[in-house]
Order: sequence, then structure tokens, then C-alpha cells
Amino acid sequence: MGRKFFVGGNWKCNGTTDDVKKIVATLNAGDLPSTDIVGNSQQYILLAEVVVSPPFVFLTHVKSELRPEIQVAAQNCWVKKGGAFTGEVSAEMLVNLGVPWVILGHSERRALLNETNEFVGDKVAYALSQGLKVIACVGETLEQREAGTTMEVVAAQTKAIADKISSWDDVVLAYEPVWAIGTGKVASPAQAQEVHAGLRKWFGEKISADVASTTRIIYGGSVSGSNCKELAGQPDVDGFLVGGASLKPEFIDIIKAAE
Ligand code: PGA
Repeated sequence: MGRKFFVGGNWKCNGTTDDVKKIVATLNAGDLPSTDIVGNSQQYILLAEVVVSPPFVFLTHVKSELRPEIQVAAQNCWVKKGGAFTGEVSAEMLVNLGVPWVILGHSERRALLNETNEFVGDKVAYALSQGLKVIACVGETLEQREAGTTMEVVAAQTKAIADKISSWDDVVLAYEPVWAIGTGKVASPAQAQEVHAGLRKWFGEKISADVASTTRIIYGGSVSGSNCKELAGQPDVDGFLVGGASLKPEFIDIIKAAE
């Protein structure tokens, strides 16, 4: 089975209701790469699986206004069943609203909210157990890269997830080097490919050949309309998780990298 190109848009903690309306209008009008369903020129499927992730407060609005081919993701959810956890949103609530995806383990949450590898593993396991699909993020800091420990770091982050789950079918792994996030310093295609290939090899050795060949590994960190094509050309780069550029019309150009 081929790995369908995946483009996620992580809006982070950005936007007003007016901004959200504009982004949704741009996405709805966008000429997205697609293919006609054989024998029916009225119907088409997108070449990329496209998932945008607005802040919680805009999730249901965006879900109801967006063209149906684009899905939505939450940017986080709680680690277990809901209850007395002030300020948290549970996986059950997302499922109840028909939100299919959640982003977990983003480096901003790891760094700013002290989410450990184990906690992220628990969150991924719980979200999957409730029927959500997960965009799970891993990535090294600049210090770790300079110390030559990149593979070790991302393997440990991936292992903490693998230890808690029994299937990777509903997981997309996002490799997001921390030094590339929001900095304009994108990983070179060779740097991205090296880590993606390393993660795929890790899957093959530690999980199974099937998981290695079917799991989508996407790249995130300063992806833009101008650097996406070359990154997408790498054999182990199966798509992107886009932050800043997902708030702009440029996001359509990034989706076009699926062509
Ligand atoms: P960026 O963010 O594209 O703004 O670098 C990526 C991310 O954090 O997912």
C-alpha cells in the first residue's frame, strides 16, 4: 500500500474569528490537487490528505464551514478519561464532536508544558483507544543535533509511544526539529531525509517491516511554498506539518507539493 501524502496545518494559538473566516474561505476556494474518480468526472479525491488544526475554540466552526475533503485536528487532548481536570479537553469530547485527528507531543508542549516522552506516549495510547487518529511529533533541539544525538533523541521519543500502543495504523509521525520550528531555518532536504530514513529503519528493526513501509513520516519546521517541493521529493518525506505558513494562502501551494 502506498503512503498517501499528508499535509497538516497547525494554526497554534493564533487567530480571531475574522482571521479564521478568511483562512477557511481561502481553503474552500483553493485549487487543490486532485484526481477524478474513474468514470465520474463530477467526483474527485484529493492527492493529499489535508488536515487543519485550529485552536479548540474554533474547531467546531471550522469543521462545519470547511469543504468536506479537508479534515480537522485538535492541537492537544487530555491523557485519560475526562473528569475533574480544569481547562482540559478529553479525547471523548473530540470524538463526540466528530473531530477525527489530534496533534500530540508537539515540541512547544514538550518544552513549555513539560510533557515528557512517557506522558506523550500515554496520551497517544489513550487518544487511539478512543478512536482518534494521531499526528505524533518528535524532534531534537539544536544542542542535541550539535551533540550528534539526533537519532537517539527521536528514537527515544518514538519508542515511548511504541511502548504504549499496539498499532501504528492511525498514527502519522511528524519529525519536527525544534531548531527549525518558527525560525525560518528549514532542515535541508538531505537532513530531513536522513532522519526520516533513520526513523523508518527504526520501525523496521523495532516494530515490523509493515509498519516501516506503511507509516507516514512527515516533516515540520519552517515549511514554505518555496521549499516544500524539494523536501517532498525526498523518498521518505511523506508530507508536512506546517505552522506559520498554514495561516496564509501559501498553504495551498504546500498542498500542491503532493502533485
Ligand atoms: P512552523 O511550525 O511551520 O511555523 O515552523 C511548524 C510546527 O510547529 O508544526
